[in-house]
Amino acid sequence: MVAIAIVASALAMSAIVGVRYLLVSGVFAAATRARHPGLYDGLSPQIRREIGWSLASALIYGVPAGVLAWGWQQHGWTLIYRDVHAYPLWYLPLSVLLYLFAHDTWFYWTHRWMHTPRVFRIAHAVHHDSRPPTAWAAMAFHPIEAVTGAVIIPLLTLGIPIHIGALGLVLGIMTVMGVTNHMGWEIFPRFMWAGRLGGWVITASHHQRHHDLYRGNYGLYFRFWDRLCGTDKGIGDFSRAHTQARRRRRRGDGAAALAARGSGDF
Ligand SMILES: [Zn+2]
Ligand SMILES: [Zn+2]
Repeated sequence: MVAIAIVASALAMSAIVGVRYLLVSGVFAAATRARHPGLYDGLSPQIRREIGWSLASALIYGVPAGVLAWGWQQHGWTLIYRDVHAYPLWYLPLSVLLYLFAHDTWFYWTHRWMHTPRVFRIAHAVHHDSRPPTAWAAMAFHPIEAVTGAVIIPLLTLGIPIHIGALGLVLGIMTVMGVTNHMGWEIFPRFMWAGRLGGWVITASHHQRHHDLYRGNYGLYFRFWDRLCGTDKGIGDFSRAHTQARRRRRRGDGAAALAARGSGDF
């Protein structure tokens, strides 16, 4: 009975993560079509691959989340709290920052490990197969990488108290940044990626450069570790991705023109 309840909780979480991914990536893919028409032209096979890997990752993400959610409900395992006054109100924003910083730290160091040649070949190459990444690449990870991503937030709930609403905000930020960082264009205002704040915060302009160079810019939310460890490569631009898109479109047009000429012969 207990086993069935745990499996049901894990499957429910996997479904939530999967649907959340499809909705958020779908919304930002639609925004990309509106803002930069043709940016994803010719990438359909890659996008299908990105969605496949991402849904497999969603399944994996659901397991530790589902087990912990069950343990929280049944045995009070985690430090997630519902009463907003259980801790001082100033702790709410602090807890969000603590989670983001801890997640960023975990991501930075596991991501650097992913870039060691052997691990890159076995696992992380899946994520870098997206050239250039799209809004659908947010969870396109090899299962090994998905496991490293899936365990961190559930583990943090065992050690750092957080209000259920603040946890929702952390997961929301995680999802939106995961998608927008791979979208192929910058959606955030300039102050978030340039200037004083931009020097510390990661948005698409920073992560795109990681995908261009295959090294450096390993962080997730903050440039703190990259700057401290000398791996910050600065912010990139999207000209290469946009030139590639134009080239793919021209090739597509050329193929269509040839096909039209071919059919005209008959
Ligand atoms: Zn990488
Ligand atoms: Zn990436």
